[in-house]
Amino acid sequence: MRGGGGGGVARLERSEAVVLASRDAGEADREVVLLTRAHGKVVAQVRGARRVTSRLAGSLEPLATVDVMLFRGGRRTTVTGAAHAQPFRALRSDLGRFLAANVFAEALDALVPVGDVTDGLYALAVGGLEFLASEADADLALAFVLTKLLALLGYAPTWRTCAACGRPVEGGPYGLSAALGGVVAGPCAQGGAPLSPPALGALALLAEGRPAAVRRLHLAPGVRDEVRRAVWALVGQAAGRPLRSAPVYEAVAGATRPASTVRIDP
Ligand SMILES: [Zn+2]
Repeated sequence: MRGGGGGGVARLERSEAVVLASRDAGEADREVVLLTRAHGKVVAQVRGARRVTSRLAGSLEPLATVDVMLFRGGRRTTVTGAAHAQPFRALRSDLGRFLAANVFAEALDALVPVGDVTDGLYALAVGGLEFLASEADADLALAFVLTKLLALLGYAPTWRTCAACGRPVEGGPYGLSAALGGVVAGPCAQGGAPLSPPALGALALLAEGRPAAVRRLHLAPGVRDEVRRAVWALVGQAAGRPLRSAPVYEAVAGATRPASTVRIDP
């Protein structure tokens, strides 16, 4: 089925895709990163996208699904047509959700190599954006979809057994080792950053992959901070670099969290 790296034959392809990122390229063009249903991650040029008359550019905003026509030349792929499929408006009307979706899109871009056609990846990208658009708790929804992404790509975190020695996790203390990909417990705990028992419990529950678990979890603010940072550390480790959008989320989303999680003293 595979064409073996391009082969030099130009062809036109149509695909559904999630727009993960869009950046300037040259004076008038843009470059978009697409996760396509059929061909995995594709980096494509959008000619003239920075001219005010470009209609194409408007259909290629990140965090939406699009129907694209791709022209695959020998070295370069160009977007020749695009139409909105699903814009996920709820992501754009809520800052917390929007920033969470940005972190998810960056994680997809950072973790998925060009051309990777892992089964279920496109469904996870679309399902993840839907989940982030609909869940009340953007923090936990984000930790959940990122954990699913790690698992799908072969970086499933270990929370039930010690990542250093492989023994079942029983007593504390607990630590997080991003390098080893999960919890280090008991005598091994000193090899990681301190991790509280409630945070470990929440991380293990999220890793079971059931969306309902996200709604059942009610975490103290300090614990949810631990959970969020633990997942981000694991994603950063897998990506080989920290996520750029994570500090933005940290700085801004905290102020927009649902009132139920914020205690206001009289
Ligand atoms: Zn151990």
